[in-house]
Amino acid sequence: MLSGKTALVTGSTSGIGLGIALALARSGARMMINGFGDVAGALAQVREHDPQAVYHGADMSRPAEVLDMVRQCEAQLGRCDILVNNAGIQHVALVEDFPPDKWDAIIAINLSSAFHAMRAALPGMKQRNWGRIVNVASVHGLVASPAKSAYIAAKHGLVGLTKSAALESATTGVTVNAICPGWVLTPLVQKQVDARAAADGVDNEEAKRRLLAEKQPSLQFTTPEELAGLVLFLCSPPAQNVRGVAWQVDGGWTAQ
Ligand code: NAD
Repeated sequence: MLSGKTALVTGSTSGIGLGIALALARSGARMMINGFGDVAGALAQVREHDPQAVYHGADMSRPAEVLDMVRQCEAQLGRCDILVNNAGIQHVALVEDFPPDKWDAIIAINLSSAFHAMRAALPGMKQRNWGRIVNVASVHGLVASPAKSAYIAAKHGLVGLTKSAALESATTGVTVNAICPGWVLTPLVQKQVDARAAADGVDNEEAKRRLLAEKQPSLQFTTPEELAGLVLFLCSPPAQNVRGVAWQVDGGWTAQ
């Protein structure tokens, strides 16, 4: 379905980003991945589907490195057709206790990096009159919860950035959309499960159940594979007129 296309997924060494990168590679896209941690493991998995997949180690908090990543994608893969802005971090604290350096890092990684990557990739996409930008926002781009102010501000900003860029590209073959997962059991959320287990004095399974019961009516975690399926749809021809949406995959969280 995507043979002949190239794709760059930020934060794709783990969790949701890795799931999306694997699905895009399986669909025939030529891949550039990015992120920290088990780079060799992630690259090996993606190379099972795209043997020539490449990696760029840009730190999403550094605009010059984000720009270099997009330029390297264009140089090494020939183009950047699909851009998935996925890298993200979390920090949980009340506003009055929130460390300013954590605020700055979350805004830089979860919001500004998407601006810098889009700014670099859009001219080529518009010139070729084909492009797909998918921003991984969150239910927290649409509604709030306590103690996540920086994350919620960044994700609401990312939804707004998505709509604005979608309007600017509306008459072109470039679409810009956001996806809004509820709870997905990745390392980012396991930390919150661990905190819940410690706070409530319960085991891992009970902490997961409590986390879900509070917000996600389906009582099931969304999976990276389900989110990857939505990204594939947004990259497909029937989605060419889907523009500027913020699409929940949240087990009913925001329907309440
Ligand atoms: P994760 O921790 O498993 O993966 C995060 C990825 O981002 C990793 O590859 C990591 O190396 C990378 N990353 C972190 N900081 C980076 C930086 N400075 N530069 C480059 N890469 C960096 O987390 P995840 O749950 O898969 O989260 C992926 C995205 O999905 C995030 O934007 C997150 O906000 C969003 N999201 C997650 C959930 C959830 O429940 N897990 C829900 C809604 C939205």
